[in-house]
Amino acid sequence: MTHKPRILIVFSDKEVVHLLERNILAPEGYQVLASNNCQEAEKQFHSIHPDLMIIGDDLPDGDHLEFSAKLIDSQPTLPVILFTKQESDISAKQILRLGLVDWLTAPLHADEVIDAVHRGLERSQQWGKWLKLETRRQTGALEKRVNELETLAQVGQAVTAELDLDRVLTTVVETAVSYCEAEEGSLLLLDEASGELYMRAGKNFQDEFVTTFRLPVEDTLAGGVIRSGDAVMVNPDSPHKILTSYLVYSVIYVPLKVHGGTIGVLGVDNRSKGSPFDQQHLTFLSALADYAAIAIDNAQLYSNTEIERSKLESILTQIDDGVLVLDEAGAVILANHTVRKAFDLGEINLQGQKLEAVFTKNDLIDAVLGKVEAPLLPEIEAEGGHIYNIQATDIPGVGRVAAFHDITYLKELDRVKSDFVNAVSHDLRSPLTAIVGYVELIERLGEVNDKQAECIQRVQTSVDAITALITDLLDLGRIEVGLDEKIEVLDFASILDPALEAIAGQMAEKGQQCRTDYQSPLPNIIGDKIQLRQLVDNMLGNAVKYTPQGGQISLSAKSDDGSLILQVADSGIGIPLQDQPRIFDRFYRASNTPQEVHGTGLGLAIVKTIVENHRGRIWVESSQEKGSTFTIVFPAAELE
Ligand code: ADP
Repeated sequence: MTHKPRILIVFSDKEVVHLLERNILAPEGYQVLASNNCQEAEKQFHSIHPDLMIIGDDLPDGDHLEFSAKLIDSQPTLPVILFTKQESDISAKQILRLGLVDWLTAPLHADEVIDAVHRGLERSQQWGKWLKLETRRQTGALEKRVNELETLAQVGQAVTAELDLDRVLTTVVETAVSYCEAEEGSLLLLDEASGELYMRAGKNFQDEFVTTFRLPVEDTLAGGVIRSGDAVMVNPDSPHKILTSYLVYSVIYVPLKVHGGTIGVLGVDNRSKGSPFDQQHLTFLSALADYAAIAIDNAQLYSNTEIERSKLESILTQIDDGVLVLDEAGAVILANHTVRKAFDLGEINLQGQKLEAVFTKNDLIDAVLGKVEAPLLPEIEAEGGHIYNIQATDIPGVGRVAAFHDITYLKELDRVKSDFVNAVSHDLRSPLTAIVGYVELIERLGEVNDKQAECIQRVQTSVDAITALITDLLDLGRIEVGLDEKIEVLDFASILDPALEAIAGQMAEKGQQCRTDYQSPLPNIIGDKIQLRQLVDNMLGNAVKYTPQGGQISLSAKSDDGSLILQVADSGIGIPLQDQPRIFDRFYRASNTPQEVHGTGLGLAIVKTIVENHRGRIWVESSQEKGSTFTIVFPAAELE
């Protein structure tokens, strides 16, 4: 059934409407609807979608020209005819400007009306057809654009998702060929060493051609693109030899740019007379070339990173020291072969395993996690008696790295030194013991005269002096090289108390008073107990030795600003000012030292070495005949 065109008449004079409908339009097969005011007409316009409208000049609620303009504005293809019953001064120009299709005036003539309606509808139909065509054309262009974008998006995805550069570049060339409907496509890269272009990927070329293809940069079209960095498009009318080593009718080369430099070209060509390339092809190819350039750059970056990573891995795995790397959650990232060998871990995959699941030794786990108080150096015994010192540090963004340093040879060296010192001390002391024994025997074997007794006495004193000297020398040597050193966290009072007890007898013999004053608790210090005891013994021994009968001795210890301060004071003979700077030197004895007070001049040298071993400081304040105060400052353990 053919559609009856719908005509909406907007006129308030019912008679005119009647005339138009009954006498003119309906007999011609038009479906007529009417409305006598703007408001109602607008509603109908939206509900019935008329094919044509006739608008009169007697509307009660609006200006007929304004109303017509409004309708045309909302639907530009709607033909609107104006009918004026009264005389009007509207000009043809106004009619055209408003977009009205015709203008009827009273009295109405049927022919005129039908003619105007016909023309209006015909024009509307033409507009409709044109609109459809135009829409189709626009949609086609849009579809093409959407396809282009989709294709580019796919290539873009391939660039980011695909690590295989060959695959990405082949996709790029294939996409270029298919989009441009070209016969061949190629991606040429510049070989910096030879200055020639080689084909990295090709479409519709024979494999052998691809592998043997070489093109100089000078005097070639593709080479020109490399040099200038600008794309070229050639669409000649007749075939001509372009220096691509084959004849082409049309060709596009676009540059592949990385960090501002051109590293190659992407090209498509037609050897037989296909349709020429256009600007759109060139734009699309440029976008593809950008993707290809990104892919090549990414691949280069990836391979550089990979090379660096494997170099680093080789260094870490081959290094003689053990290296253990943990992530921030405490799981193993890397354990090199030294660690594996030392702790018998074999070749099993340790990645991602928790430290506690890999190692059973608690002291090792504590050392790696840094739970050992500084400056104690954790020494861990590994398989086969090897001893490792572990140093671990946090590395932001990685986790924790522990270096295992094999100190077995140092331990062995210590043992050898210790054996040597013990042997020397034994070999030096035993003849002295023999001398002492035989000298004592002389007196028992028979009577000796006074002269002989004096000689015997001198031999005994000398032997005592040599024994003291040997003991002090060996002690100093032992302390200096750190033999038998055992570093631990110490409560200093546990050193002071027994030292005082041991010297109490000598003090009592000389009728000396001893005052002690130390804080409780004292801060802990880190060090070797035997050495520190020797230090206190030497200090107290000197105080007793260089303080006359009935003198005063005091020992105080306190904590101060992260340090432990130890003071030994006496009311003894004091030390002359000029001797004070040298009393810590070996074998140095002050000028006022009484002849009868024996000594080796090594006691304070030993004290100084021990103080330095414990990162402390020592000094003396003394005035002759009044007494001396020795002060020692050690760093306290708590603040380490
Ligand atoms: P020594 O074996 O002679 O005591 P030291 O190295 O212990 O050797 O002391 C070096 C010198 O420093 C001593 O000979 C003495 O002159 C002086 N000296 C050490 N302590 C005191 C002290 N408390 N009072 C006076 N002089 C001292």
